[in-house]
Amino acid sequence: MYLRELQKPITELHGIGKSTFTAYAALGITTWSDLLLHFPRAYEDRTAVRPLSSGYGGEPVNTIVEVLSHSFIGSGPRRTLKVTVADESATAALVCFGRNFLQDMLRVGRRFYLYGTFSLKYHELQTSAFEVEPWLPDQPPKAFGQILPLYPLSGKLTQQRLRKDISGLLSAKIKYIENELPEELRESTGLLPKAEALENIHFPRSMKVRELARKSLAYEELLYLQLMVRRRVLRRQESVPLRQISSSKSADQLGADQLGERLGQRLRKKLPFSLTADQETVLQEIEADLMSPRPMARLVQGDVGSGKTLTAFISALSVIERGGQTAFMAPTELLARQHAENAAALLEPLGIRLAYLTGSVPKNRRGLILKALLAGDIDLIIGTHALFSKDVVFRNLRYVIVDEQHRFGVLQRIALSNKGDLPDLLLMTATPIPRTLALTVFGDLDVSSIRTMPPGRLPVKTHLAAEKSRDRVYAAVRVEFERGHQAYFVYPRIEDTGKSELRDAESMYRYLSETVYPGIPAGLIHSRIAEDDKLSIMENFRQGKLSYLVSTSVVEVGVDVPNAACMVIEHAERFGLSALHQLRGRVGRGSVQSYAFLIYSDELSPEGKERLMVMRESHDGFVIAEKDLRIRGPGEIAGTRQSGFLKLTAADIILDHELLLQARQDADRILASDPGLLHPVNQVFPGGAQPRPHLDDDRTEG
Ligand code: ADP
Ligand code: MG
Repeated sequence: MYLRELQKPITELHGIGKSTFTAYAALGITTWSDLLLHFPRAYEDRTAVRPLSSGYGGEPVNTIVEVLSHSFIGSGPRRTLKVTVADESATAALVCFGRNFLQDMLRVGRRFYLYGTFSLKYHELQTSAFEVEPWLPDQPPKAFGQILPLYPLSGKLTQQRLRKDISGLLSAKIKYIENELPEELRESTGLLPKAEALENIHFPRSMKVRELARKSLAYEELLYLQLMVRRRVLRRQESVPLRQISSSKSADQLGADQLGERLGQRLRKKLPFSLTADQETVLQEIEADLMSPRPMARLVQGDVGSGKTLTAFISALSVIERGGQTAFMAPTELLARQHAENAAALLEPLGIRLAYLTGSVPKNRRGLILKALLAGDIDLIIGTHALFSKDVVFRNLRYVIVDEQHRFGVLQRIALSNKGDLPDLLLMTATPIPRTLALTVFGDLDVSSIRTMPPGRLPVKTHLAAEKSRDRVYAAVRVEFERGHQAYFVYPRIEDTGKSELRDAESMYRYLSETVYPGIPAGLIHSRIAEDDKLSIMENFRQGKLSYLVSTSVVEVGVDVPNAACMVIEHAERFGLSALHQLRGRVGRGSVQSYAFLIYSDELSPEGKERLMVMRESHDGFVIAEKDLRIRGPGEIAGTRQSGFLKLTAADIILDHELLLQARQDADRILASDPGLLHPVNQVFPGGAQPRPHLDDDRTEG
């Protein structure tokens, strides 16, 4: 959110010099608008009178006192003034550290407004953190009787400074702040006009009005967000005439359908299992999109191991047999390689022409692949983001599949789509998108879910273990080794930096292989190990030549080793719940009973432990993701923070869920009432450039 009327730099305000500017800049404040949108983190309520005696209970005191006497602590020039005051309820001492100058103001017999927090010292109520203001019989107090804002600070900034700068700016400029929401919309929602909302979020008349103010600003923000998201959805529906529908697709759909069934059918017959009901449903949803003239933008969410990748492969068959090319993009080489191998086993026998392209494919081989792609001699290409380097040109790219989509920025996803003529787009994620995010960040996607696991999987047994009992965990894993099973050990750090108490993968690899499990073959894997080595270590692990892997969270995504039965995560409290869930999903992929051991610090707080307890209680990635969202905030989960995708000032997409739903409804109504609004040249509301939440997409779609 920003206030377009107030884009002047704060250096134009009275009294803001270089060092103040630096301190403001550290808070991200450089313009008037930034300053007014720097909302308080809390308030000091000085409207309620609380007598001195409430200081005995530790509550802040907010009262009127009379000065009884002066005395000094210590002697000489460094002595400290001590002023004894009283109201009807009690007597107390104000200790004026560094404020001996108050001696003149706090004259004996005078009355003052007093605000402070007291403690009991030497049987006496004392404070050194207090504020006073003269009490005058026929004048209202200045700061007292108000609700005062408490701002996040930095550097030399003080609360007083911020209050002064913000209230000054508010009173001078408030008349320039326009109401962007149409009046009828604002009235029907019962919210405050923007200027009033801004005044009351900084200096609220009452805490009730303050909440209404916040809601008013949040609603506006969410409405813009929803307008943008819904506009994308509607524009996509509108873009039908832009897309050349392939002749085979429209001319001979029936024939293509039957053919499609044949390829898909043939693959199914080869599988040693049948698809789950959810997989079938998702396939139908995808097929319907593929047959429709409007380009698909669909997100498939499902837990690790729920069968998303297989479903995606099958869906590609119907595109391929109609002569279209498919690109399948994975976030890492490791995963791309694994997918390519699976595809080779499953699809090559059906006559599908495959290729594998990553940054480490040698130059001459790469040249051959690019030529074949351009000639249309490749049906399905699997790779990493190398797939959308400039020189990769397709003959007829119809279908783009992106695995673990949250690792890709929105821009990358659009770049890949641009390589074809509005190809169908399928995104897959094992980090379930909570409902609130589905409505916002991913609001332009249709969503399919695979909620059930293939039959026969045993849920992973999850144990929490305190650090001091980690030898017991190592012993339990040894038993699994003796049964011929494999294990992962995961650490939050790669190496010992000397700065941290945390165990790291490198040291623990040494410790485990030399001391705990001598003679048992092991591998070490983390992001700084060369890609080739990583691949061969993984391959050895997959073939059972290594009994365990010591790693960082690089094993988090997608790696599939059915014989791995133990996942040991040390310093588990350092990981987000969704990451833990992903890691746990690395085991329990075969038919043997698997275990996850979450080892936590002996000093872990009760709340921290409760958080880890969620892992023991739930195996449902959706439930865990919702909890994670509540604990960590949305950015981390969807990878939106890295992409700078969503930055809300007033709204909180969890707390304001109801408001979000309403904004979505209103956005749809607004867009339906005037289809012209779908295009960027048309402003949504009259009166100038349209303020936008920070979304990185609209420009690229143009
Ligand atoms: P995801 O991509 O969701 O993590 P995959 O598609 O990689 O899941 O499937 C994980 C494992 O489960 C693979 O070995 C796959 O062959 C197997 N699998 C997929 N669907 C089924 C099913 N319906 N029944 C049994 N096993 C399945
Ligand atoms: Mg997968």
